[in-house]
Amino acid sequence: LGRKLNAALSSLNRVSIVDEKVLDTLLKEVCAALLESDVNVKLVSQLRQKVRIKVKAVFESGGEKAKEANKKNLIQKAVFDELVSLVDPGVEPYKPKKGYPNVIMAVGLQACGTLLPGNGKTTTCTKLAVHYQKRGYKASIVCADTFRAGAFDQTRQSATKAKVAYFGSYTETDPVAIAAQGVAKFKKEKFEVIIVDTSGRHKQESELFEEMIQIGHAVKPDMTVLILDASIGQSAEAQSRAFKESADFGAIIVTKMDGHAKGGGAISAVAATKTPIIFLGTGEHLTDLDRFSPQPFISKLLGLGDVQGLMEHMQDLATQNPDRQKEMAKKLEEGKLSIRDWREQIQNVMNLGPISKIASMIPGLPQDLLQGSDEEGALRMKRMIYITDSMSSMELDSDGTVFMESAKDGKPIGLTWRVSRVARGSGTTVREVEELLCQYRMMANMAKQAGGKNGWLQAMQKIQ
Ligand code: GDP
Ligand code: MG
Repeated sequence: LGRKLNAALSSLNRVSIVDEKVLDTLLKEVCAALLESDVNVKLVSQLRQKVRIKVKAVFESGGEKAKEANKKNLIQKAVFDELVSLVDPGVEPYKPKKGYPNVIMAVGLQACGTLLPGNGKTTTCTKLAVHYQKRGYKASIVCADTFRAGAFDQTRQSATKAKVAYFGSYTETDPVAIAAQGVAKFKKEKFEVIIVDTSGRHKQESELFEEMIQIGHAVKPDMTVLILDASIGQSAEAQSRAFKESADFGAIIVTKMDGHAKGGGAISAVAATKTPIIFLGTGEHLTDLDRFSPQPFISKLLGLGDVQGLMEHMQDLATQNPDRQKEMAKKLEEGKLSIRDWREQIQNVMNLGPISKIASMIPGLPQDLLQGSDEEGALRMKRMIYITDSMSSMELDSDGTVFMESAKDGKPIGLTWRVSRVARGSGTTVREVEELLCQYRMMANMAKQAGGKNGWLQAMQKIQ
């Protein structure tokens, strides 16, 4: 969708005179791209009309904006604004509060009787729990899917992997009872985010909706989230309306945005139910969850970049543990950052997700981490962690000089036996350990020289 929209808009740059005919051709291309991605037909024709009316009015006004030089911008902006308003219902989604048991219920429908994989509810529940846990909430998951065999096992496995508390039952067959028990238990244990995962299948669709109503009554969710698969297509409108009536959801998450699906159906769901999208699922990993906001989303769709997303990732790092980050900034400034501290920074980055998104902001990370794919980058970072894992406490807390053999005047002349021990212990090579120490030293020197003043950690402190 992005490529086609982008192509349509940039074709504007090739024409010298922008008249109504050009406008109509462009709108036709934009609409074709939207329809092809399964955006609802009615919405597309509305968009076309709105842009046309808006642009024509300015053209005819004869004012400054109607000058030939400004016409292209005018059209691009009108299309941009209309696309944004398609995915922006202007409603603020619920925001979990600290120190309060926020109950979040996930709902969604899997076409009856099919053997297709689910739309990603269970995966998304775990991703959400991880997301909130990273932000300091005590998070948990309740598995209220008793329809699918193995549902609780799946929750148990993914929650364990994510180190999130979970609740479910192998014997209880009433999803309402399980949901109520789980939420009551986690409330008592002072959990701040309690996510209720429900079934997406039933013998009869109407029974599924009834079940959602009952679970809703039992757990009184603060927010109900409709989970939609990006490939949902034109049935999105009817399905989301049906859910809106039974389980009045206040937010939408669109999963599998990384796949071939075009996501247009999800746009229709937003428009049909006036409910905001809050996250996009972008992969099978637990960190593949991107915050959604309308403008950057459309901006990315049109190939205009996403600065806001980058800032959010930085903020995430800072808010996870502000005190610790401040301490790090101070150490950096004073040139006292130990290998242990540095490892923590690397781990922070790894926890945040795709490396290419953020690594360039982290001081001292070797540039070659940014080359190649995210997987390769992640692997290189993991090897760095393995190496530091084989260091002793004393070594980790040091500034790396213990690995150096020094001459009497203090000049380093070689490596000590410690290096080969670490290489053996971590299953890496002496060369890799040497490289890591060298990178650490470069980082420490760089930080000392810059006094940390204009560095990344300083920038983070300003965000607070
Ligand atoms: P449920 O039946 O609705 O609970 O769906 P599941 O959470 O079990 O997910 C079904 C399948 O979709 C699993 O194989 C997941 O790994 C996969 N999946 C879920 N979310 C995403 C996503 O955002 N991207 C990709 N590529 N796969 C996903
Ligand atoms: Mg499931």
